[in-house]
Amino acid sequence: MNEAIIFWFRQDLRLKDNPGLDAAIASGKALIPVYILDDESPSQWRLGQASRWWLHHSLSALNKELKQHYGTELILRRGSAKTLLPKLCDETGADAVFCSRQYEPWAAALEQDLHHLFQYRAISFKRFAGSLLFEPGSILTQAGGPFKVFTAFWRRCRSGPEPALPLGLPKAPQSLRTGLASDTLTDWQLLPDSPNWAAGWETLWQPGAEGAAQRLQQFLNAAIDDYQDARDIPAQVGTSLLSAHLSFGEISPRMVWHATKAKVAQEHSLLEQSNKFLSELAWREFSHHLLHFFPQLPQEPFKAQFAHFPWESNPTALQAWQQGQTGYPMVDAGMRELWQSGYMHNRLRMIVASFLTKHLRLHWRLGERWFWDCLVDANLANNASGWQWVAGSGADASPYFRIFNPTTQGEKFDPQGDYIRRWVPELAGLPNKYLHQPSKAPAKVLEQAGLVLGENYPLPIVEHSSAREQALSAYAVARESF
Ligand code: FAD
Repeated sequence: MNEAIIFWFRQDLRLKDNPGLDAAIASGKALIPVYILDDESPSQWRLGQASRWWLHHSLSALNKELKQHYGTELILRRGSAKTLLPKLCDETGADAVFCSRQYEPWAAALEQDLHHLFQYRAISFKRFAGSLLFEPGSILTQAGGPFKVFTAFWRRCRSGPEPALPLGLPKAPQSLRTGLASDTLTDWQLLPDSPNWAAGWETLWQPGAEGAAQRLQQFLNAAIDDYQDARDIPAQVGTSLLSAHLSFGEISPRMVWHATKAKVAQEHSLLEQSNKFLSELAWREFSHHLLHFFPQLPQEPFKAQFAHFPWESNPTALQAWQQGQTGYPMVDAGMRELWQSGYMHNRLRMIVASFLTKHLRLHWRLGERWFWDCLVDANLANNASGWQWVAGSGADASPYFRIFNPTTQGEKFDPQGDYIRRWVPELAGLPNKYLHQPSKAPAKVLEQAGLVLGENYPLPIVEHSSAREQALSAYAVARESF
């Protein structure tokens, strides 16, 4: 039997620009491509339901690519990677395991454990960079510490060399190890059935490298032209919609980076728009660097003072928020977009997060958990830093006293009401004047729109001005202990 090498796919479900896979193939050993569904991560961060839907389709797409390009199939195993990888080495005689690095605290700890375990067994275990433009630890302040302010971080990223050019499709492996036992995707039951809340998602999303490449092209052909402004208008496709593809590693950030740069080289007028886009990509970097240096970010406030914040407990209000039944059309539209599509526009993520943490004064962790379960792009670093940014407790966060008014946010970013009418159809008959505040509509207008507030659309669960005042008082009290 010739020598074999395991390439362990993780959050890098692609063949192109995958340095670890490239190196595994270049070793000349028989390739064994493996994915392990490891539900042994801390239970609260087990893959959420929407991510499971995505993963099913993403693995199916990767398997298709492996067959098409290399004539092999992805070996699927379920359980603890720490147990299964050494077992697979025994089974196949593989003397090397390569993979891409991951940044969640448990994943980094698992890599450490595997490193020791394989060292002891004289198996070569190598981790490669592949998910970020800049590895944590490579972008540091002059004092050698992590950046806590985004603009300074981004300036430092830009002052160094450009990220390396992406790698192409690796040539076919010299040999393959076939005939190994594998689970099937159906065994894993990643898709919802009763009820199938993801019905129709195939028309919204195409998980996999091909879908990712298409999204990138669509973005560079159109939405990038007006990215700076349109990225805030949820009724338009003004952003790249690449987040889930990036989270699952179906496309690498440097593929996105260099494709954007190439576009600008052809059309110089896009320079400003592209800089804004690349800076958003850099927020993804910033979040991952933060998580690396502050692994407690998903559960503890970055600013320790917020540990004393007097959060409320109100399961009824939480449920109304989760179900998009707050009586604030913009908030409800965002929450229903999330539930019905597995995605929520960034502007809405900020509005609904502000509403939860300030109008309802519920802990940001409750929102973080809900997003984790419902988002197809659920990502520990981005989600934790996004929630802490809005709640005011994060690094370089929006201050707590910056409280979005959900009504004026709606008027500003959805002036024609197209977004609200799409996701909250019971309000569709209201004229624009009252669409953002149905409770202010005269009885006749409500009647004409077929609305009975409190029956087919809720009255606001809190009143904006008094909720705002209460949030500010709670903040003032908390500040005394800061
Ligand atoms: P684009 O505008 O096209 O941006 C390109 C890419 O840059 C995105 O795909 C994403 O990878 C990255 N990016 C953009 N904005 C941010 C940001 N603010 N922080 C970090 N990276 C960013 N993003 C996730 O990928 N997963 C999450 O779980 C997540 N949770 C969030 C929770 C809250 C409360 C908030 C306020 C934001 C969250 N974000 C999260 C960030 C952001 O909302 C999404 O990345 C973005 O909406 C995805 O749409 P897009 O791909 O079209 O973005």
